[in-house]
Formats: sequence, C-alpha cells, structure tokens
Amino acid sequence: MSIHSTHLNVRPVRAFADNYIWLIESPQAPKQVVAVDPGEAAPVIAELRRSGSSLAAILLTHHHPDHIGGVPELKLLGDVPVIGPDDARITQRTRTVRDGERCDFPKLGLSFEILAVPGHTLSHIAFWGHGALFCGDTLFSAGCGRMFEGTPTQMNASLTKLRELPADTRVFCGHEYTAANLRFALTVEPANSAALEYQGGVQRVRAAGDPSLPSTLGLEVRVNPFLRCDNPTVMAAAALHAGKPLSEAADVFGVLRAWKDQFR
Ligand code: ZN
Ligand code: FE
Repeated sequence: MSIHSTHLNVRPVRAFADNYIWLIESPQAPKQVVAVDPGEAAPVIAELRRSGSSLAAILLTHHHPDHIGGVPELKLLGDVPVIGPDDARITQRTRTVRDGERCDFPKLGLSFEILAVPGHTLSHIAFWGHGALFCGDTLFSAGCGRMFEGTPTQMNASLTKLRELPADTRVFCGHEYTAANLRFALTVEPANSAALEYQGGVQRVRAAGDPSLPSTLGLEVRVNPFLRCDNPTVMAAAALHAGKPLSEAADVFGVLRAWKDQFR
C-alpha cells in the first residue's frame, strides 16, 4: 500500500467566526500534527495541549491574515517548517512550493502534491494527497472564494482543475460557509435534488454544532454551481441573470461569482 492511500485523520480547529484550521495527524506518529492555514495561534495551541500533540509543520494556502496570522506565534513552539506559495506577503515561510511539486514529510508519512489555483488570490495553492484536498478559500462546499485578485478565466480554470480530482477526494475548505452557499446554489438551481437533500443534512449537522466539512468532490460536482458552469441549467440561469446569452464556462463563472457577491 502506498502512503498516498493512507486515510488521514484530520480534525478541525475553529478560529475567528467561521474559519477552520485543519490539523492533520501523522499516520506514522499520531502525536505529530501538521496545521493548515493557522490564522490564529491560541486555538491551535489549546488543541495541541488538549491532545498531547506537537506541531510538526505548517501548510499555507494563501497570504490572507485569517490563514497565516497565527504563524509567528506557532513558530515559537519549535523548529516548525512553514510551507507556502511564492508570495512576498507570506514572510514567515521557510519553504516555497510551486504547481506540480511535491511536498513530502517522510518521517510523518505525509506527501502532498501542490496545485496552483489562482483566482481568490494570484498565488493561492492547494495541497492534495492521501485522498484529501486542502483548498483554503478557493473551493468551499457549495460555493467558492471571492475573486480578489484573479480573473474569471483563471478562477474557473482553477476550479475545473480541482473538479478533475477523484470523486472520493475529501475536501477541507477554509471556512464554514456551506449553509449560506446552498441558499445561493438553490437560487441558481432550485430543482437540484442533490443540493436540496444536502441542505437538509447540513441543517442537521449545523444545528448539532458540528462542521459541515469535509465535503467530497463527488458531492461538490453535483451541488456546487461554481463547478457546474458547463451544466445547461446553470448556464441558462446565469444567462437569464446576465440578460445575455453565455456560451463560455468562464463567462458563466464570472456571472455567477458577481451574482453571488450581491446575493443576500
Ligand atoms: Zn482568503
Ligand atoms: Fe479566508
């Protein structure tokens, strides 16, 4: 069995109002964990103490403060490598990774492929490995990140790249936005039965105080309008909203993203 097929134990640490910092347990040494996007240090330190774990590395998807703010304080815990994209706004990183590269932690039994996913920010990356995807603010469940720096063509290409990963890939997003995203998804596709069914499930887990994440890519392909820009129903809804015909998936994406930006 290759290490890539190792099922990861990943637990959420809540930060700010709706961020998740994901802690990945080493399959080789379960008391060693890797933190993804620690926007805050305190809740990570509390979870390390609670579980008797130590921090082995930090992975960063993009430069926004709610994803990197805790890094300086966490680095004080020891010699913690900080892996992130090539971006001068991420001053704390110790290793830069680029599209297509691998990021291996042999002692931890962890290995990720780096995927460049520009759009939310230009240098945004995702970490993919062991059937798990850590995608920061690029892909959310039933939605996607705001397009702060990229173009619709870029961000649509990034999401299309993620869509091509295996359907059973578990999707670990940076925020708990699923319920609000589903309200928009069902505005675009009111008769999407998978989205309607998912909405009921999400309401139940959220009412119980649990995260709606991780999702899976197979589910996202069925419910997430931003992964369905070539679906005839989604294309028709976007064209109706824009008041003009749309034939290119990137144009459909651009209309959906602008529509969602205004959606309440
Ligand atoms: Zn962000
Ligand atoms: Fe964020």
